[in-house]
Amino acid sequence: MLGGIEAGGTKFVCAVGKEDGTIIDRVEIPTTMPDETIEKVIQYFRQFSLQAIGIGSFGPVDTDKTNKTYGTITATPKAGWRHYPFLQTVKNEMKIPVGFNTDVNAAALGEFLFGEAKDLDSCLYMTIGTGIGAGAIVEGRLLQGLSHPEMGHIYIRRHPDDVYQGKCPYHKDCFEGLASGPAIEARWGKKAADLAHINQVWELEGYYIAQALAQYILILAPKKIILGGGVVMNQKQVFPYIYQYVPKIMNSYLNFSELSESMSSYIVPPRLGRNAGIIGTLVLADQALQAETASGEVRS
Ligand code: ZN
Repeated sequence: MLGGIEAGGTKFVCAVGKEDGTIIDRVEIPTTMPDETIEKVIQYFRQFSLQAIGIGSFGPVDTDKTNKTYGTITATPKAGWRHYPFLQTVKNEMKIPVGFNTDVNAAALGEFLFGEAKDLDSCLYMTIGTGIGAGAIVEGRLLQGLSHPEMGHIYIRRHPDDVYQGKCPYHKDCFEGLASGPAIEARWGKKAADLAHINQVWELEGYYIAQALAQYILILAPKKIILGGGVVMNQKQVFPYIYQYVPKIMNSYLNFSELSESMSSYIVPPRLGRNAGIIGTLVLADQALQAETASGEVRS
């Protein structure tokens, strides 16, 4: 049995399951201060006999295994979590292999192995909620360089009628600053859920999402784009606007049916629904277990 932690800014989803993505048990724990939150997580996992745990964390985090700070949360404004040694703490408590990556990379893995991209060798998973982030799988591997990608913070062209200044504390009107859930709320003065019937809101949101997707398509050329996160999952009326604006922005530059008549099966919601992330953490757990087994064999 494997454990998975999908660590978000407001709650931790913890689950126990199998390497085939089956979830056996799950619990939600509110995100408070790190020591308090992690203590509850450990208490939960101690009820089970686990072989490994996978963590998909809100970020940014250090995902470079060669760094001393691998497995720590880095630049979050969230109280108490900055520089928190997330991976090491869980490892010290549970004394089993622990896999670690971002929440969106975990969700990308989940959809890659068991969801929308399971027959492909590349995909992009993007979440649009409190924040915006994306994970990319290229030629069967999660894209990782100096850092994990931070695709929510790219710059996009502002709509000429949009006077909202932007919500990102680092860049103001980057993509996340213009299109995250909090940005929608600040621009329109109401929560996204209370704006569901106002077409103008979703047309603008679709316009911004389409611009970002056009850039990812031009740079990474993913074979499938999966859009999750609260804003998109709860407001599916944004999809037709995305399908309308992506071809407008691309302007027939690339001739693929994915960018014209088959777009609704190219840019899709997660097949695993809200479980994409937590199922991905079970994959991270399994990978950590496999890596530990392989290195054990090398040593012996
Ligand atoms: Zn930003």
